[in-house]
Amino acid sequence: MTSMQPKPTTNDAGIPVASDDHSLTVGPDGPILLQDHYLIEQMANFNRERIPERQPHAKGAGAFGSFEVTNDVSAYTKAAVFQPGARTEALIRFSTVAGEQGSPDTWRDPRGFSLRLYTAAGNLDLVGNNTPVFFIRDPLKFQHFIRSQKRRADSGLRDNDMQWDFWTLSPESAHMVTWLMGDRGIPRTWRHMNGYSSHTYSWLDAAGELSWVKYHFISDQGIECLTQAEGDELAGKDGDYHRRDLFEAIRRGEYPSWTLKVQIMPFEDAKTYRFNPFDLTKVWPHGDYPLHEVGRLTLDRNVSDFHTEMEQAAFEPDNQVPGTGLSPDKMLLARGFSYADAHRARLGVNYKQIPVNSPKVEVHSYSKDGVMRIRNASDPVYAPNSYGGPQADPVIAAEVRWSADGGMVRQAYALRRDDDDWGQAGTLVREVLDDAARDRLVSNIAGHLLGGVSEPVLERSFQYWKNVDQTLGERVEKAVGDRRS
Ligand code: NDP
Repeated sequence: MTSMQPKPTTNDAGIPVASDDHSLTVGPDGPILLQDHYLIEQMANFNRERIPERQPHAKGAGAFGSFEVTNDVSAYTKAAVFQPGARTEALIRFSTVAGEQGSPDTWRDPRGFSLRLYTAAGNLDLVGNNTPVFFIRDPLKFQHFIRSQKRRADSGLRDNDMQWDFWTLSPESAHMVTWLMGDRGIPRTWRHMNGYSSHTYSWLDAAGELSWVKYHFISDQGIECLTQAEGDELAGKDGDYHRRDLFEAIRRGEYPSWTLKVQIMPFEDAKTYRFNPFDLTKVWPHGDYPLHEVGRLTLDRNVSDFHTEMEQAAFEPDNQVPGTGLSPDKMLLARGFSYADAHRARLGVNYKQIPVNSPKVEVHSYSKDGVMRIRNASDPVYAPNSYGGPQADPVIAAEVRWSADGGMVRQAYALRRDDDDWGQAGTLVREVLDDAARDRLVSNIAGHLLGGVSEPVLERSFQYWKNVDQTLGERVEKAVGDRRS
C-alpha cells in the first residue's frame, strides 16, 4: 500500500513554512522573534476569522442543487429559468430568525428559505420563509419587531414579555403568530417543511402582460413537525439538529426536493381583489387562486467550505431576472434595499465577486474599485461612451410594469372588503386545524405566555386570541390560569 505524500504547508503567500509545531525563538527557552512571519500570520488570521453574523437569520445552513422545470408556464413568464426543459443550478440557505449563531435549531421560530437560481440571465433570488405570511406589513416596524424578539438592553436576555408586548400592540401579527404557535412553528427538519415567497412578486410574459405571483415550494418529503417537548429536548441535546440532518441526508444520497407551485393573479384582479394582494400578512386563499406546478428543486451537494459558501452567501430579493419582478408590497420593496445594504456592511461592497454570489454569466457592469475587488475593471468606465462599452437593453426599459398615483402620505394600505387583522388567522384555527392541533396550539400559547409575560401584556394577549377566535382565547386564558394555580 502506498501512503499519500502530504502536501507541504505554505503560508498564505504560498511560501513553504519551516514548522507546524514550533515558533521561532532565541534558543529553545528564549523569547519569540518578531520575524516569525508565519506565526504572526496564523495569529492575525485567527483573530479575524469571524465576520459579523446576520441580523437577523444568523443561524443557518444549506446546500447546492438544481431546479428543473416540469410544467409549461410560458404563458405567464418569459423568464428563461421557467421555460420548459430548463435546468438551473441552485443554492439554498435555511435559517432561524431570532437566535444567534450558536442558538438551537429547534426553537420555535419561523425558518428562512432563501433560494438562489444561477440563471442564464443572472442570479434570481427568492428570499422566503417556511411561512406564507409575516408579522408586519410596513417596513418601518421591521427593526422594532426584530429587536422585540431578540435581547433586552439591560440583562441581555430574551424576554417573552417583550415579544408579546410588540405582537399584541401590532394586531396585523395575529395570522403569523397563530401559524408560529401551531405545529408548523417547529419543523421536524428543514427537509420536512415548505418554503413560501410569502410576498407577491410579478411575472412578465413574452407579450408584455404582467401577472402577480406567489411562489410555494411544497416539500416532497411531506410536512413533519416537532412538538414543543421534542423541540425543547433536542435544543439541549443537539443544537445543530437541523443542520446535521440536512448535511447527513445529502451525504447519504437522500436528496430532498420541493415542488414549486405558483398562484397566479391577473394584473387587473389586484385592483379589486377582496384582500389587498400585496399585504404580507395575508394569503390568497387557494379557492380563489389555485396552485400551478412549475418544477422541482432538488438539493444534492453539500458545501465544502461553510464559511465561503454559506456564511458569505448573500441573497437579495432585488435579484430579479427578465420575466420576474417585484410588486408594490411595501415590505418587499424595503427588503430590496436592506438586504444589499446588510451584505455591504457584513461582506464589503464587492460581495458579489465572492464566488458563491457571482452569477454564472459574464458581468458587464460599470461598477469599479472598492474594498476587496478581485475582478478587473476595464475601460471605458463610464456610459455613454464612444469606445465600445456595454450598452443597456432598451427592450427592458420598454417593459411596462406597474404604475402608482397619489400624493405623498404616511398611511396604512387602503382596506379591501375582507381585509382585517383577525379573519385569516381565525380561518386557520377553525377550518384548517383539527381538534388535536387546536389543543396543541392552546398548550403552546399558554406555555409561551407563562414564560414571563406580565400585566398589562398578559390581559391584552387573552383579548388578542379572543379576537382571532373567541373559544381559542377563552381556552388560552383558562390554560394559563389552571397552570398557574
Ligand atoms: P385551504 O384549505 O385551501 O388551504 C389550507 C392550507 O393550510 C393547506 O393547503 C396547507 O398549506 C396549510 N396548512 C395545513 N395545516 C396547517 C397547519 N397546521 N399550520 C399552518 N398551515 C397549515 O384554505 P385557504 O387557501 O383558503 O387558506 C385557509 C388558511 O390556511 C389561511 O387563512 C392560512 O392561514 C392557511 N394557509 C393558506 C395558504 C395559502 O396560500 N392559501 C398557505 C398555507 C396556509 P400548504 O398546502 O401550503 O402546506
